[in-house]
Amino acid sequence: CGIVGAVSSRNIVPILVQGLQRLEYRGYDSCGVAVHAASLSGGTGGLQRARSTSRVAELMDQVSADHIEGGTGIAHTRWATHGAPAVHNAHPHFSHGTGAADAKPGKVALVHNGIIENHEELRAALQAKGYVFSSQTDTEVIAHLVDSVYDGDIFEAVKTAIRQLHGAYAIAVFHKDEPQRVIGARAGSPLILGVGQGETFLASDAMALAGVTDQIVYLEEGDVVDIQLGKYWVVDREHKAVTRVVKTVHAHS
Ligand code: GLU
Repeated sequence: CGIVGAVSSRNIVPILVQGLQRLEYRGYDSCGVAVHAASLSGGTGGLQRARSTSRVAELMDQVSADHIEGGTGIAHTRWATHGAPAVHNAHPHFSHGTGAADAKPGKVALVHNGIIENHEELRAALQAKGYVFSSQTDTEVIAHLVDSVYDGDIFEAVKTAIRQLHGAYAIAVFHKDEPQRVIGARAGSPLILGVGQGETFLASDAMALAGVTDQIVYLEEGDVVDIQLGKYWVVDREHKAVTRVVKTVHAHS
């Protein structure tokens, strides 16, 4: 339903959660946020996550209580299409790598708007490779698919993985081994880029970034974007590098 993502050198959790609050009017049944804990200077640790079937305000309390902080992160409000509204089905989803779900810490964190039509075939193929699913969502297949093709470059992994997806999606993804990078892709669901001062954002709607940045790039169908600290790259559906216009947008919430 709603997506917000960021790569920054400050703790971005409040911006991510406020972004979700600006998208609350669209309706949702659950929400969540994931950060790379080592993306801030002095930060240590891997992926951290909080998810809730309550309001975004409650998610904020949970994030504060659990001291979840990071400069790189993604957040989501979910409107369930596959899998009941429940914490284990809420995004962000992590890929656990092959083996028992609890035995390996997550490496890929992902949020998704839309529907993956071939999720059953993809799930069967990934299970055959040893991936263990912890949700009933169509979304979790994308996290494992990205993990399965990952070879040191999350931008390349996302470009490879999305070739196998049928359906509608906007996604935001990051990887444990690349702390200051978030990848976005869109096909059938909107996704925008927000260009800040030394920091870069993704969102499903410019309104999510009101008060954060008014410099907005509306991504086109099939675009894949690599956001980093103060820089970004966009490729089109053929994966050719493209320049998209930055517009000044005054979004009001
Ligand atoms: N199909 C996904 C799910 O059910 C995403 C739904 C959404 O767009 O919020 O988890």
